Amino acid sequence: MPIHVLAEDVVSQIAAGEVIERPASVVKELVENAIDAGASEIHVETRGGGVAFVRVTDDGCGIPIAEAEVAFRRHSTSKLTTADDLSHITTLGFRGEALASIAAVSRMTLATRAAGEPVGALLRMEAGRLLTRQETGRPPGTAVTMEDLFFNVPARRKFLRTERTERRHIDAFTTRYAMAYPNVRFTLSHGGRVVFQSPGNSRLRDVVIAVYGLEAGAAVLDVIPDAPVHGPSIQVTGLVSPPSFHRANRSFITLFVNGRWVQDSRLTYAVIQAYHTLLPQGRYPLAVAMVAIAPEEVDVNVHPTKAEVRFRDSDAVFRAVQRAVRHTLLERAPVPAVRRPLTWGSLTTQRRDAHRERLLSLQPRTAAGQLRFDKEAGPPTAEPGAPPPTGSEGRLPPLRVIGQVGATYIIAEGPEGLYLIDQHAAHERVLFEQLCSQQQQADVASQALLEPQPVDLSPESAGVLGAHLEALARLGFLVEPFGGATLLVRAVPAIALTADAAAVLEDVAAALLTGDMPMASAVEEMIARQVCKQAAVKAGQVMASDEMDALVRALERCTSPRTCPHGRPTMIHLSAAQLALEFGR
Ligand code: ADP
Ligand code: MG
Repeated sequence: MPIHVLAEDVVSQIAAGEVIERPASVVKELVENAIDAGASEIHVETRGGGVAFVRVTDDGCGIPIAEAEVAFRRHSTSKLTTADDLSHITTLGFRGEALASIAAVSRMTLATRAAGEPVGALLRMEAGRLLTRQETGRPPGTAVTMEDLFFNVPARRKFLRTERTERRHIDAFTTRYAMAYPNVRFTLSHGGRVVFQSPGNSRLRDVVIAVYGLEAGAAVLDVIPDAPVHGPSIQVTGLVSPPSFHRANRSFITLFVNGRWVQDSRLTYAVIQAYHTLLPQGRYPLAVAMVAIAPEEVDVNVHPTKAEVRFRDSDAVFRAVQRAVRHTLLERAPVPAVRRPLTWGSLTTQRRDAHRERLLSLQPRTAAGQLRFDKEAGPPTAEPGAPPPTGSEGRLPPLRVIGQVGATYIIAEGPEGLYLIDQHAAHERVLFEQLCSQQQQADVASQALLEPQPVDLSPESAGVLGAHLEALARLGFLVEPFGGATLLVRAVPAIALTADAAAVLEDVAAALLTGDMPMASAVEEMIARQVCKQAAVKAGQVMASDEMDALVRALERCTSPRTCPHGRPTMIHLSAAQLALEFGR
């Protein structure tokens, strides 16, 4: 075939393919246009999974009648003029491709009226061609209707998934944008049934309740905006779950950069990193984080769908997200509360519901440190949404040890009620923080053994430990090869003097063999966790009251006293309010 220039309709179908992949892309582009138009109300209606029908209606600024036709041309936009403008984009759209692309691969109707004009325009297009154009009366704003997606591109149509899958994509997209724009009231319906509605009252927490339910909405913590650090000014706001609330995968982490939803695995990791050692293995937080950064610091023109962005200083953005979330958790994460009433069985359903509601209403307040039973603090006065009182909510209040239960748990009392502390988990946390701080100062107290101890291991374990002798040494373990699969232990970390060195080394080897741990720091931390696990007081060990006292005092000094280094809770808190409720006071 000789070289020839492609016909215009072929070109536009190719171009459309980049932007419009599936029904959810149509929803995305139309919703973004509605947001750019300043809408305060956006309706998304679909039928047949969005393949048969999508309509997005908004009450935004509308398109002037004289410009309605131009809006459908490729590369026509009101949001950008010069290439220079590209470096400080503040709108979601700017490429001028969406309407043209959607029109090229469907039958499309645009009904719009600009706020200041007496009549509006009604345009009907099919496969990119204008069929009819007339004037129309309608309220200010815009409604774009798309029908029969890919009716003229059979190859594309074949790749569409089931109606359910396409709907799921539309749901995910619409709910995300509802979270990014809590001031906009979103309504989503499929086949005439409303499946989602956001209140549009500017409160993110209320949108999170609409998206993820009451429990999540009650649990999440307001991100504390961090003081600006060096480099570009980056502000992180939003809501993140406390360590006691977690999910099986990372799809509950949603990130926005300057109001644009982004898929950025590095930033997602920054959020996960902030929960380091606070969550059980393989569990992930729920987070809705908005990153605000000067537009010239971020390039949004990386991909036609703009779900990827590039930062001028991506390390700075990573740090800002990680720090803001971490700081929030340390300051505001509440002790995991007993969720189920102890006398559950005896409660009537009605009381149980009342109880649940009460718990739900209590949780966010205790979470933000606004409801306290501290006598000195007086009655709760802080307004919802007010900054938390000074004093670290992540840390523990002073506790008084009452006794030990089952040689496993310590009972303690504090200004906020009763605490049941897992002695092993608590001791692990205390030792872990001590060891980590010594390690950070390269000053781990190491104790030489009077007689070096040979430890026999499997060849595999000996091999993997042999590759990490330096990491072991930095944590106080002086270990050297001793022929075959035997290692000779010359010194151990002072805190692990009573621990079984062989058991620690075996656990470390097992963890190294199963996990993939590329980073040296991760290896060292894992070693530290294993050391502390072996060195900590065990369940079933009777403790003297001064030992319990010392442990609780040490726990009070910890930065993250509420979870053990493996992410399990160290304690259960029964607040004074809950106790009163349980006893029907
Ligand atoms: P872009 O959003 O990149 O500018 P589009 O093809 O999505 O490109 O839209 C083209 C233009 O049509 C926009 O720049 C805007 O002026 C106008 N427009 C599209 N949708 C709307 C809407 N819902 N309300 C007001 N104007 C709109
Ligand atoms: Mg657009």
